[in-house]
Amino acid sequence: MLLAGDIGGTKTLLGLFDPVAARPHPIAVRGFTTLDFDDLTTLISAFLEDDATKGAPIESACFGVAGPVIGDVAELTNVPWLVDAQRVATKFKLRHVSLLNDLQAMAYSVSVLRDAEVHVLQQGRTADGNRALIAAGTGLGEALLHHVDGRFRASPSEGGHADFAARTERDVVLLRDLIERYGRAQVEHVVSGPGLANVHRVAHRVPCVASINPEDPDAPRAISAAALDRRCDGCVEALEMFVEAYGADAGNLALRTVATGGVFIGGGIAPKILPALTDGRFMRAFRDKAPLEALLEAIPVKVILNAEAGLLGAAVYAAAAG
Ligand SMILES: [Zn+2]
Repeated sequence: MLLAGDIGGTKTLLGLFDPVAARPHPIAVRGFTTLDFDDLTTLISAFLEDDATKGAPIESACFGVAGPVIGDVAELTNVPWLVDAQRVATKFKLRHVSLLNDLQAMAYSVSVLRDAEVHVLQQGRTADGNRALIAAGTGLGEALLHHVDGRFRASPSEGGHADFAARTERDVVLLRDLIERYGRAQVEHVVSGPGLANVHRVAHRVPCVASINPEDPDAPRAISAAALDRRCDGCVEALEMFVEAYGADAGNLALRTVATGGVFIGGGIAPKILPALTDGRFMRAFRDKAPLEALLEAIPVKVILNAEAGLLGAAVYAAAAG
């Protein structure tokens, strides 16, 4: 058996998997509020108290962690714990424990996703080559799947913190606002849940008809809903700017990694705004990279619909590493 985890700043998913060929099969999966626990070993102990998991013969484990992984230790970005692979291995008598960045873990799910678990934005032409993953949620994560000797190796990236590249006059207005607010404009300040709230601020020249306060933690969800229902012109414009910036940055990632094997859009936001992602704006911004439009037109682009892709990827990695 394998233990897999997707450890986020807010939520943690743990799963017990049977390591059947290619795609590990989930036996039990449970979600936890990360901050309800003092450390990962306490959280794993709670998971292993369930009837479905008690006494399971676990041999190896892999955890995707929302934060940088240095050696066998990972520091979470928004949680005051260290995740120590060696401690987990000792406490639960595991042969092998791997720690990956959360996007790196999700990247390992890409090769085993079923057709029903993705929505194709651009068919492209199936080709060998690197793949890339971009995922907007609370933040913006990116990862590269490097194609070497017929296999994919996932590398983490902190590309979400790269500089935001303005493409249009209204992006320039947004850029000025972000620099004033943060000192430096990062892509994540636009392409993430809080980013959508930042865009909302500059997209409203008149008060928001949907009465959304961008400081409200629930603002991103409310803005998307108001835009998709076309209740407020400002919210519609905010979501359009967000979708174009998301597509443009996915295109930048494709250029930087020559991702001819495909670009995958993960994270919690994409499935929720699918009608906006499929209206043409996202892919136009993705392809608008003269003189390399032909390269970008050939790249398959797919939205990941499986909300547990990060957990699945960690299980795929544990099966291969264990
Ligand atoms: Zn509005």
